[in-house]
Amino acid sequence: MAMMRSVLRNALRFCLQQQQQHEGFRGLNFVASSRDLESSRTCLKNWFGAAGTSWRQRRNFSVRRLYDHLHRAPNVPARAGRDEIWGLAELAASRSTHAASRGQAHWTQLPRSMMHGMLWCGNERVSYLLAAVAATGFLGGAGLFVVLADAGQREEQGTSRPAAAASVEVEEVVRSSVGTGPGRKKKVVVLGTGWAGTSFLKNLDSSLYDVIVVAPRNSFVFTPLLPSVASGVVEARSVTEPIRRIIRNRNIEFYQSECVRIDAKSKQILCNDVSERKWQGKDVEFTLDYDLLVVAVGATNNTFGTKGVQEYCHFLKEIEDAEKIRESVVERFETASLPNFSSEDRSKLLHFVVVGGGPTGVEYAAELHDLIHDDLCRLYPHLKQDVTITVVQSGDHILNSFDRRISEYAEKKFSRDGVDVKIGWRVSEVTDENVCLKLKKTGELVQLPYGMVVWSTGIATRPVVADLMAQIGQADRKVLATDAWLRVHNCEGVYALGDCASVEQRKIAEDITNLFELAEKEKSGLLTAEEFLETAEKIRPEYPQIDIYLEHQHMESVTGLLDNAVKDGKQSTVQLDLEHFRKAMCKVDSQLKSMPATAQVAAQQGAYLACCFNKLAQEYATNIKPEDHRHQLDPFFYRHLGQFAPLGGEIAAAEIPGDWVSIGHSTQWLWYSVYASMQVSWRTRVLVVFDWAKKFIFGRDSSSM
Ligand code: FAD
Ligand code: MG
Repeated sequence: MAMMRSVLRNALRFCLQQQQQHEGFRGLNFVASSRDLESSRTCLKNWFGAAGTSWRQRRNFSVRRLYDHLHRAPNVPARAGRDEIWGLAELAASRSTHAASRGQAHWTQLPRSMMHGMLWCGNERVSYLLAAVAATGFLGGAGLFVVLADAGQREEQGTSRPAAAASVEVEEVVRSSVGTGPGRKKKVVVLGTGWAGTSFLKNLDSSLYDVIVVAPRNSFVFTPLLPSVASGVVEARSVTEPIRRIIRNRNIEFYQSECVRIDAKSKQILCNDVSERKWQGKDVEFTLDYDLLVVAVGATNNTFGTKGVQEYCHFLKEIEDAEKIRESVVERFETASLPNFSSEDRSKLLHFVVVGGGPTGVEYAAELHDLIHDDLCRLYPHLKQDVTITVVQSGDHILNSFDRRISEYAEKKFSRDGVDVKIGWRVSEVTDENVCLKLKKTGELVQLPYGMVVWSTGIATRPVVADLMAQIGQADRKVLATDAWLRVHNCEGVYALGDCASVEQRKIAEDITNLFELAEKEKSGLLTAEEFLETAEKIRPEYPQIDIYLEHQHMESVTGLLDNAVKDGKQSTVQLDLEHFRKAMCKVDSQLKSMPATAQVAAQQGAYLACCFNKLAQEYATNIKPEDHRHQLDPFFYRHLGQFAPLGGEIAAAEIPGDWVSIGHSTQWLWYSVYASMQVSWRTRVLVVFDWAKKFIFGRDSSSM
């Protein structure tokens, strides 16, 4: 044992020497010099300076938080000098740098025992220990072993106080530094386990809050692959990940139930059990208090009040919907194969109608066409001539949120494939036998007999959200309005994201007179170039469109805006009146676009909000209201990464930012790789790839179960 220890120690020393010589690794350089207070200060400063930008981008801002709080905390262990504290922060940093680079994340992942060892050993050999722990990032188990071995030795020698006492102190430091002041952490309740909710949970530092998740579904569903589930390419289980796997070991509680009411005044929510079996014949109801509520409940299907839709149509929103659709398609083929069916009946049974020409409707129609022509027609060759697929779209084109080239290509491809696209028609009613259509231009009415209808026309507000909106004076809106920090207007402590919310982006034009008055100090009615630039710089965080505009125009600073207003903005004599100021600033408003209800937006919002929460914990600890710090947190900024439209026949179209369009087989392969990489876990990634491979080998699943 002793020999092993000494071998490991020597190995570690050697590694440390090597690392010290390596300039890039600042963490260890600092740690190695932490004996000398002055140089460690400088070192820390340099380290933060050098790491500043990349740390700001890191999701778990842990070093800074830890450093700040340990620095200020009144109950820092008496024996821990400043440099140990810095060392601790630094050490946590070096640990979490490695953790972060592996996509994990937080300093609390630093085993407690290491911390005990450090504080407990005091100044004497702290540099060595810090270095040892920092090196665990490189040495894994070996470094850890050395630290523990050292701690053990000390205990034997009886040179330090009991580990338990140190442990309490460490706990206290941790609590006072990252909790919510005296005693209690803030209670965060998250509603929803969809794209927004899951992305929030994955990125949240759950040690900073008491977190409870409530949702009627105990899994995350990868919705972009639902059309593939509905056509039997991918199994339902391959696109779902149990939420408890995502939150395991994370100190997060999950309740499978539905939130039926949010009481914004008393900061409570009312929940209802969703299980089929009622407890003693009754619904189980319970209330939960919250300090911060994250509403990410998504949306429901929008039927636009059309008669018969709820009764006779399939939706494609949840995993059960997709499975039901697949079963129904196969069932229609089986029914049509029964004896005594006339050709007319068969055509009726095998008429599949997709209402809605948006991305989901089009993708499903394409997948359905492939399922029928690649697989079902081989199994039911006698029914081939009876099958029809119709897509009904009320707008002028299908895929009208895409580039024109893509929607035109999709229309041509569908007409080649024999998919009937009815453009400009609106569904007025669905009966048990017919879909009633009305041509928007002329009012002409048509009745289409059908075998199955899939309704995919957009989204509507969930009742629980509508009720909250009524409480807070947003009853006239379609979705919850939030500010650019995702906080719901007039509703303290409530945040909303994903499909149930929309960010209300404030136009500069609305505030232009106030801004002008604020900017213009001499009250002469004219702005100097300096005043203009100062104001533009000051308001940048409040109006994210300024940054987007500068980026689009390839401008490096707000001086570009001034150049917009006057020919040569660099002259110091430039003077602007209100009208010029308005013109210069309002050009940037054109960058404001409402964000689409997509997984991409929801996931980005979830990650953004988690990052804000991680930072906010600091402010709660110092009792500064987050409102006072409104502009310390950058507003949410949506980065559009492009979108795909699979068109069937192993052809996909992609729209990539910068006016790029790509259509063809290679784009389909790009689609496969992007969607595989986007999976939430390795389990689902492997399953989905297997399912795709299975399709190429054995075809799609055509059993009606
Ligand atoms: P959801 O993901 O819908 O999650 C809502 C969550 O809230 C669920 O867990 C639900 O169980 C829970 N919930 C519901 N009611 C309550 C309640 N009362 N209390 C508590 N919890 C509740 N987007 C893309 O970007 N690309 C695509 O390719 C794409 N394809 C799609 C294909 C289909 C078939 C569908 C339906 C959508 C597709 N989308 C796509 C859109 C994307 O799925 C949504 O924008 C995204 O799911 C929104 O995320 P969300 O978290 O707001 O809501
Ligand atoms: Mg969600």
